[in-house]
Amino acid sequence: MAELEGLEFGKSDFVLLDEVTMEQFMENLKLRFEKARIYTFIGEVVVSVNPYRHLDIYGKEVIEDYRGRELYENPPHLYAVADAAYKAMKRRAKDTCIVISGESGAGKTEASKYIMQYIAAITNPSQRAEVESVKNVLLKSNCVLEAFGNAKTNRNDNSSRFGKYMDINFNFNGDPTGGHINNYLLEKVRPSVFSLFSLSLCHSKSSSQASNNDSLCHKAVMAALKVIGFTTEEISSIYKILSTILHLGNLQFTSDGEHVVLVGEDTVKHISELTSTEPENTRKALLYRTVATGGGEVIEKGHSEQEASYGRDAFAKALYERLFAWIVGRINSVIQVMDYNPALHGKNTVIGVLDIYGFEIFDNNSFEQFCINYCNEKLQQLFIELILRQEQDEYQREGITWQNIEYFNNQIIVDLVEQPHKGIISVLDEACLTAGKVTDTVCLDSMNKKLGQHPHYTSRKLCPADKTMDFNRDFRIRHYAGDVTYSVEGFLDKNKDPLFQDFKRLMYNSSDPVLKEMWPDGKMSITEVTKRPLTAATLFKNSIIALVDKLACKEPYYVRCIKPNEVKSPLLFDDGRCQHQVAYLGLLENVHVRRAGFAYRQPYARFLQRYKMTCEYTWPNHLMSSDQEAVEAIVNQHGFEDDVAYGHTKLFVRTPRTLFTLEQERAAL
Ligand code: ATP
Ligand code: MG
Repeated sequence: MAELEGLEFGKSDFVLLDEVTMEQFMENLKLRFEKARIYTFIGEVVVSVNPYRHLDIYGKEVIEDYRGRELYENPPHLYAVADAAYKAMKRRAKDTCIVISGESGAGKTEASKYIMQYIAAITNPSQRAEVESVKNVLLKSNCVLEAFGNAKTNRNDNSSRFGKYMDINFNFNGDPTGGHINNYLLEKVRPSVFSLFSLSLCHSKSSSQASNNDSLCHKAVMAALKVIGFTTEEISSIYKILSTILHLGNLQFTSDGEHVVLVGEDTVKHISELTSTEPENTRKALLYRTVATGGGEVIEKGHSEQEASYGRDAFAKALYERLFAWIVGRINSVIQVMDYNPALHGKNTVIGVLDIYGFEIFDNNSFEQFCINYCNEKLQQLFIELILRQEQDEYQREGITWQNIEYFNNQIIVDLVEQPHKGIISVLDEACLTAGKVTDTVCLDSMNKKLGQHPHYTSRKLCPADKTMDFNRDFRIRHYAGDVTYSVEGFLDKNKDPLFQDFKRLMYNSSDPVLKEMWPDGKMSITEVTKRPLTAATLFKNSIIALVDKLACKEPYYVRCIKPNEVKSPLLFDDGRCQHQVAYLGLLENVHVRRAGFAYRQPYARFLQRYKMTCEYTWPNHLMSSDQEAVEAIVNQHGFEDDVAYGHTKLFVRTPRTLFTLEQERAAL
């Protein structure tokens, strides 16, 4: 068993702070970071600070230290949470989930990988081949999703540009039998170019040309694709689509005075070869759109130069998005749990792992940040609800009186965004549905009218003195994590996310079966297409509501990731930046809640085992009729009677100092 940490590393659980103040919290966090103790508990929550260097704390021996242990027996670690979630799942047949949050570069994806590795390491001790193969696919799926969905940004060299939720299914033995991945809001604009570029470059170059790193990455992705079960044809289609996206980037339009024309017919030829379509059809889709007139007549309408460029970009983005969705779907079909019969096999339980973008405040905040921050409001709401509920349930179960604690409930902000007919999303959708030229500014006006009274909404019109906002462009939401000013520019367009039907039909008619499969909606003829598709914001809202529903019915475990500095330095602890994150992650409130009732709880037997040497009546063994009585003897001998409550199975300790004193006494023996 691992040594419990000494005091020189600070307090391993924030509930042990003498006083819960921001000052003390930060002091402890910083001390631990400097001593390479990057994990700290708040009860069962793990707070993690990105070390920005390799730490030797994830090896096999460490896994053995945590395997099957209780949370408090070892120093704080991701493995402790992973094991707690796994134990709850296995012993109590509970569905559990591990929610990993924090801003870009805070270490969420790394954490999720360590957690998955831990679960893989402790399961299937008998090495059954079918379980091993499931585990392998689950682990390899990370590599593929990262290759296609990650990109270098100025915040993180390997930034996930999509949110990911992965369910891992377990059989009655506690071995993985399959899983399911959901992806959320893939960011289509900024990163795709970079990551796709390096991927397809690797593919087309000979290995001597590609840089070592690129070629290694490429090999790993290829190997992973094969392990997962992608066929050679499928892999070839994937790379053709990537090339298509790159070629589309090279495609230019100009005007001959009368019509829009393509610059470089060669590129079109390439694109038709890559997509297995007729060059003439490809050319047409790029230059014209087919529209049905009121009278049911179908006509071809030439694009303006601007429309053509717009169409091309929308097409490239859609190709990328559908490819990604298809890859996720393909992985899901491989890891899907088949023929599980509860009558024969017992309950099929699940551990969900959520690695999703954290709160984003940039200099320029657009539609993407709006969606991401809304998602974080929803998750914060869930955190409040679940952490409170969990406490409450435990006190009830153990027959102990619970006293409520007040803190900011962000439901009001969630409502501001998502409420039907009134919320921002609904105003946006309305503007998108309005015929004619509704501009972003018009949309901002109607938001001002509808939401002007809301305490968490403001804009320059409502607050003319605030020169930090632009009259025609900006609105501000007071988020739980801080104020964010959004520029409404591009909101309508991104929300509509329109793609000319002609591209859909072109792809559906491709003779590449993989490509065709990605575009089932291209089947509809022009006169059939009448239904307006749901907007991007509404689709996102629906998916996040579904996600929250999924999480809410599971027992939650939390990993809260903090980014120590902006420069990826292993040495720098930027006090201001860290404090801001601690504040908006609600960590101090978390400690308060945890301490309001009882900071610590321990099953009687565990408590005894740990502290029996501090009392003459219990050392080496007690002769009382129950463990609870023996624990009472220890408590009484130390004079802690007023600080504890006796539950049905556990001892509850109100102030951390009590346990701390016991720990010190134990250490002094
Ligand atoms: P994003 O939201 O942009 O996807 P993220 O929170 O997922 O960000 P990661 O990609 O997990 O961030 O971490 C960023 C980088 O920080 C990693 O590439 C790695 O270099 C470093 N890092 C994170 N966690 C650890 C760790 N536990 N040990 C060592 N390095 C780490
Ligand atoms: Mg990530």
